[in-house]
Amino acid sequence: MKYFFFLLVTLPLLAQKKIKPELTELWEPVPQVIKPGNHSTPPSDAIVLFDGTDLSKWINTSSGQAADWVINSDGSMTVKRDGGIETKEEFGSVQLHIEWSTPKEIKGEGQGRGNSGVYFQKSYEIQVLDSYNNITYSNGQAASVYKQSIPLVNASRPPGEWQTYDIIFNEPNYNNKGNRLKKGSFTVFHNGVLVQNNVEIQGTTVYRGLPQLRDIKTPKRLYLQDHGNPVSYRNIWLREL
Ligand code: MG
Repeated sequence: MKYFFFLLVTLPLLAQKKIKPELTELWEPVPQVIKPGNHSTPPSDAIVLFDGTDLSKWINTSSGQAADWVINSDGSMTVKRDGGIETKEEFGSVQLHIEWSTPKEIKGEGQGRGNSGVYFQKSYEIQVLDSYNNITYSNGQAASVYKQSIPLVNASRPPGEWQTYDIIFNEPNYNNKGNRLKKGSFTVFHNGVLVQNNVEIQGTTVYRGLPQLRDIKTPKRLYLQDHGNPVSYRNIWLREL
């Protein structure tokens, strides 16, 4: 009996030794060669949404007219208190890079300090907030999937300093009847630190109550929130996945 078990364990190992390593080598497809960016420039295959020169890729969500947030001389733009802005183009799953800065002069507290937000498909918010020595509910602080997932750590820089989000958004899958076939996910790096690790998206971002199914008629645009605070953004690009 013991001998039988010995064979049971060793035979597959012996068999495995005869397998050619080449059998598990995949040579196709060859990943496309791209030129990586550094901290201030996008990679060559990115769709650049804002490079500091103009807002031609964006419209004002409230008016539907050209976006009119303030473009600053340093290549950034600042929330103007007349509504959020959204891209003209729609996007599915993406890798997004965005840089943001909350006002150096600290005003307000909790959710009232440096609040803005990056919404995917106008439905799912990664919170932008001054969370440097600023207490609020954990699932509403900077880098939270708002009201859904607390960041793993608080990697916030002080107000007035530039911060980065690198976000992988895998879109949820809906059929044309509006039924959700598969939930989506977020992976987020805040200032280069992993803060959301392949987190399942429960539904749309909702302020009161629980996440909801997405209305499939909502355009799949990237949206930046006007929450009444002069938060600035720069260097926004994405890669479609
Ligand atoms: Mg917000």
